Amino acid sequence: AKGRIVIIGGGFGGASAARYIRINHPHIAVTIIEPRKQVVTCPYGNLLLEGRKTLAEITQSYVGLSRRGVKFVHDWADSVDVIAKKVKVRGGATIAYDKLIVSPGIAIKWDALAGYGKGAEEVFPHAWVPENGEQVVLLRRQLEALPDGGVVGFAIPGNPFRCPPGPYERISLVASYLKKHKPRSKILALDGKDAFSKQGLFQDAWNELYPGLIEWIPAAKDGRVVRVDVKEKIFETEFGTRHKVDVGNVIPPQSAAKIAFDIGLVNETGWVPVNPYTFEATAVKDVHVIGDATIGGPMPKSGFIANSTSKQAAASAVALLEGREVPKDPIYFNTCYSHVGDDYGISVVGVFRPGEKGFVETPNSGGVSPRGPLEQQREQRKLESHYADSWYAAITKDAFS
Ligand code: FAD
Repeated sequence: AKGRIVIIGGGFGGASAARYIRINHPHIAVTIIEPRKQVVTCPYGNLLLEGRKTLAEITQSYVGLSRRGVKFVHDWADSVDVIAKKVKVRGGATIAYDKLIVSPGIAIKWDALAGYGKGAEEVFPHAWVPENGEQVVLLRRQLEALPDGGVVGFAIPGNPFRCPPGPYERISLVASYLKKHKPRSKILALDGKDAFSKQGLFQDAWNELYPGLIEWIPAAKDGRVVRVDVKEKIFETEFGTRHKVDVGNVIPPQSAAKIAFDIGLVNETGWVPVNPYTFEATAVKDVHVIGDATIGGPMPKSGFIANSTSKQAAASAVALLEGREVPKDPIYFNTCYSHVGDDYGISVVGVFRPGEKGFVETPNSGGVSPRGPLEQQREQRKLESHYADSWYAAITKDAFS
């Protein structure tokens, strides 16, 4: 049998799906529509902020996927005719498909915070959608220019958002940079929620490694930022407290990327509901959706989950195309590692399966790194920082080679 699978988005989900289709079903023609010519990964961007990694070290090329026969159209998918099964790209060309896989990631909800409209990211970078790395590099430059004794503010959204531990890894690694280079500086982390991923482990680490440097304010203590002022460099909270910052990282509320709305895949939550076995969109036939754009909870919006679920989504798309049964009993894995300082890594593991409605975490599986004083856990923390580096090497290979 012959078949054409078109993939919108060549990030973690889309690239992994393309790779697995070419490996397991080489008779299928795979085209990725993706404006970027290479991928600056969000994972490990926080290490660039700390100064531990360069942009080149977190950039992945598409050479490996091209060698596998994946065709690339480096353009934006602008619209999809889901009846005629054709994607139109910004440059004007149309690309026909038999099955469409959509993994476009997230969109920033501009103006969800008053004062944070398009353009505000030039003052307060979000550095949450990587593009070609401009945002993360801008934030790094701002940290380099910060005077010793300055305040670095973080505005962190409520759930759900891309990479639940990401803001806290970022706080940790910015603290690591400040402690070494600008020790009189402070971090003010204003949060739109009251609890976060690996909270106990992060807070233990902050007390051990960066005592007095980080102030984290939960929503219940007026941490929710509702307005920013880019001229005066102010973060303003729900109850009107105005915090002056010297450098500000605003991680705004998010939704599925625009193209998911344009295709009609998104429901009232702003995210895409999918069949948990096949990742077919609930709303549109012959379209499979993976990655951060989906309603995947309790699975996190992570590169690991985008990669893990892409394998089942890809296999299902091919099976349905060829009139075969989709693979049974899939299991989806996640591990989110976070670096919090030198030789100090922590992790959270989750194992998930399809349930009657959506996804279900497998009981008595997964968990977080053991807690305990650093003298007792030093070896464990060091090992996990190595595991994190191995994870980055492995996942980028599994998606992009
Ligand atoms: P993406 O990887 O963002 O890919 C989407 C792609 O679609 C993009 O390349 C985009 O250009 C393209 N696209 C969008 N619209 C269109 C269109 N209309 N036409 C064509 N192409 C389009 N995850 C982990 O597992 N571990 C980590 O340690 C980790 N660390 C992180 C740290 C930070 C700071 C951040 C922000 C995220 C981190 N993540 C981590 C999360 C991870 O980056 C995302 O979960 C992952 O990228 C999701 O994959 P995706 O395919 O859904 O989206």
